[in-house]
Amino acid sequence: MSTKPEDICPRPDFLPPQSTEPMAPPLYTAAVYRCRDTAQAEALLSGDSEGYVYVRDGHPNADLLAEKCRQLHSADRATICSSGMAALAAAALAHLSAGDEVVVSSQVYGRSLSLFSGELPRLGITATAVDTCDLHATRAACSKATKLLLVETITNPLLRVSDIAALAKVTHDAGALLLVDNTFAGPLVCRPLELGADLVMESLTKTMSGHSDVLLGLLCGREATWSRVPIAVATWGLSSAPFDCWLASRGLGTMALRVERAVANAQVAAEFLSHRPEISQALYPGLPNHPDHALARKQFAGRFGTIVTFTLRGGRPAVDAFIAASRNIPFSPSLGDLCTTLSHPETTSHRGLSAGERTALGIDGGTVRLSVGIESSEAILEALAVGLAAVR
Ligand SMILES: *Cc1c(COP(=O)(O)O)cnc(C)c1O
Repeated sequence: MSTKPEDICPRPDFLPPQSTEPMAPPLYTAAVYRCRDTAQAEALLSGDSEGYVYVRDGHPNADLLAEKCRQLHSADRATICSSGMAALAAAALAHLSAGDEVVVSSQVYGRSLSLFSGELPRLGITATAVDTCDLHATRAACSKATKLLLVETITNPLLRVSDIAALAKVTHDAGALLLVDNTFAGPLVCRPLELGADLVMESLTKTMSGHSDVLLGLLCGREATWSRVPIAVATWGLSSAPFDCWLASRGLGTMALRVERAVANAQVAAEFLSHRPEISQALYPGLPNHPDHALARKQFAGRFGTIVTFTLRGGRPAVDAFIAASRNIPFSPSLGDLCTTLSHPETTSHRGLSAGERTALGIDGGTVRLSVGIESSEAILEALAVGLAAVR
């Protein structure tokens, strides 16, 4: 008896023989799973037994990736969201209610600032921005209503370093939780939970995945912070897609090697740039003249990240000449790719700020942010030299 093409549901009972294990994790594209009976459906949906029913509530590729990330951060719990912003939204929606206040570092990622100071106020949650490098000002900004403090381990594009242990103390004294955006550092440079943070988010889109082909975010934290997180992720629809998780797991396999190499390259690039006459300022936490060098040495155990920021004396015209000449350094406003890329904060990440606000942060038309890749250091210096030769 043959099966007609349209008689495909229910699908044939085919499972691959299990005598060997695949070396690559299977990709589970299923959006929904078949339950044996009503009792099993009830047990699974109530959480009494472990397993999958519906992809928005959980799927194997997200759980595999979350478990690796949980271990990397020594977290009690971890979840994967559809983007870094979704992970940040999950933290906010799980922990904040109308009437609550949030204290936010004035240097956070533009979209993060928009989330906390533009979107959440519409839900009755207010935000105060403060320079979190100033611990006194941060303490003063916390009130009885403060529930959350958001900082970035290394800020964009000035690469200021947050003193996580000190900020955790300030936050806990105020009865609030410390949420750290660790995207610019990553777990090889910093594990904020070990320094006292309560929640950590990272955009896996960047260095963790490492190949510019994935959009994903990580939220991880201590057990005491977790009860409402899975509800927020599933209910607000912040869940991840299986294939993105599969790609990110693959990227994670080489993360340690990639980051070691890129960190070493970044130090070389920063030293090279700091001696060039076309450049008024080169910023890298690994340079002794960086304002947070001593803190970075202590907190990051000798790794200073993969991002270098520099300012061309010739301003925006010099940047345009640099971009046109340095064909081997794509102008691509993200970070964490295999290859070295550059971004221009004035026209990309910090476009939404007024000129005055940018000046206050130390950003002008000549500011360039370099995401250093894993090429040979010679190739990177050569590409930078080609760009700089064009701005003379
Ligand atoms: C990219 C980025 C985000 C947002 O992550 P997405 O994955 O793009 O949503 C948040 N914080 C920092 C520091 C980032 O660089």
